[in-house]
Amino acid sequence: MNTAKTAPFYDLTWSALDWLFPPQCVGCGKRGAILCDRCQTTLKTIPIDCCKKCGKPLHATKICQTCLTQEFSFTQARAAYLYEGIVREAIHQLKFSGNLGLANLFSKMLYSVYLYGNQQVDLVTAVPLSQNKLNERGFNQSVWIGRPLATRIGVPFKSRALIKMKDTEPQVGLNRVQRHGNLKGAFLAEPKLVNGKKVLIVDDVMTTGATFQACAEALLVAGAKEIYCLSVATTDHFLKPQD
Ligand SMILES: [Zn+2]
Ligand SMILES: [Zn+2]
Repeated sequence: MNTAKTAPFYDLTWSALDWLFPPQCVGCGKRGAILCDRCQTTLKTIPIDCCKKCGKPLHATKICQTCLTQEFSFTQARAAYLYEGIVREAIHQLKFSGNLGLANLFSKMLYSVYLYGNQQVDLVTAVPLSQNKLNERGFNQSVWIGRPLATRIGVPFKSRALIKMKDTEPQVGLNRVQRHGNLKGAFLAEPKLVNGKKVLIVDDVMTTGATFQACAEALLVAGAKEIYCLSVATTDHFLKPQD
């Protein structure tokens, strides 16, 4: 069977909901679409000639400093947009206001990035939340993005491939070294689900890559063959990491 080019179930469900309850654009407030066409054209996409490894934008003659000094365990990370403006607002609305329709839109955006990156994976999973955090928020935004993305790709989505073993301090305000230390031993992968598999990890935002790195390490320990990462947005190396 050919890989699923669309995710009819998700698209139809959200179209029906949009018809019943016309959404408001998170960018301009106009009624009709959750993120209108006009606002979508203003989003800052990540240039094609980004860092081959971590997917961060490169600046003029500068090469990616992170990948010079640090070896990521994942094969490749890519993002759709820079984490700023409307994208940042949209991610906040998904995460903190439960505007879940945005997750399906993000999955469409990430599917394009997936195809372009030529990442051929066996299964999709999402950066997990700890049980406490999940109880508090009620949902994991990355699962909501990853599940329809897996359907579009035509591979299974396995939310239990990764679990977060403990609550960790928020990464905001920590430097790169502290972020890595903070996440040490935080994630555990399920060998039965990932052994020998090429795994795609989905998250909403990548900042230093510490979270993807910790998840990739756990998956490789559990026998995964190769790790790819996709996030809706990535921060610029040359800006201070934000939430
Ligand atoms: Zn708009
Ligand atoms: Zn890099």
